[in-house]
Amino acid sequence: MRFHVITLFPDICKTYTDSSILGRAQKTYKGKGSKTKGKKIAVEYYNPRDFSTNKHKKVDDRPYGGGPGMVMAAEPILKAWQKAVGRKQDQKKVKTLIMSPRGKQFTNTLAKQYAKQYDHLVLISGRYEGIDARVKKALKADEVSVGDYVLTGGELPALAIIDSVSRQVPGVLGTFESLEDERVSSGEMYTRPEAIKFKDKHYKVPKVFLSGNHADIEKRRGK
Ligand code: SAH
Repeated sequence: MRFHVITLFPDICKTYTDSSILGRAQKTYKGKGSKTKGKKIAVEYYNPRDFSTNKHKKVDDRPYGGGPGMVMAAEPILKAWQKAVGRKQDQKKVKTLIMSPRGKQFTNTLAKQYAKQYDHLVLISGRYEGIDARVKKALKADEVSVGDYVLTGGELPALAIIDSVSRQVPGVLGTFESLEDERVSSGEMYTRPEAIKFKDKHYKVPKVFLSGNHADIEKRRGK
């Protein structure tokens, strides 16, 4: 899976995608038997500012029809998109998502679907009051929201989507990390030590987790 992030703030995002599991998934690594295995994911960044034809590299303007704030202009974003995936032969393998608090709610089910169905995900992050609506039309993009709250930019939503879709790409999670089949989260979890102390109070791992009885443990975890 290749992610293409269109954002005015690539550096904020890179720090995240280059770390931990996502960072590892972007590197070629030696698999069993020293065979070189391929990268599982790639993340590329495109800054609309680099595609602005304005001499001040302006990427926003006042809204037609009035109203507060500024709107991200369509053309630098469309040019960035062209650079990212415009020349891909099989456009059926390309999905374009615009981050928007008014979009359809992003879910784990969608993450699975995207991982399975597409080779390229383009994520467009808005700033200011949002993005010129012609971007959605021209790119036949879907608007997605990561929740019923408003953020100052689409970078965190784009990262959330990259993160959850990547987990669904075979081989991204190692043997130590688990991919859920049906459930969304793992329920109650504990690790060493067995007892901890905080503000004069002791907190112990419930006995059932030490019992080795997997049926009871699963039950306790609410599965
Ligand atoms: N007044 C605007 C809000 C813009 S917020 C409106 O009503 O739509 C600025 C940018 O942050 C948006 O363009 C979008 O890309 C991103 N954003 C904010 N909250 C979001 C959310 N819950 N999900 C996805 N993107 C969000």
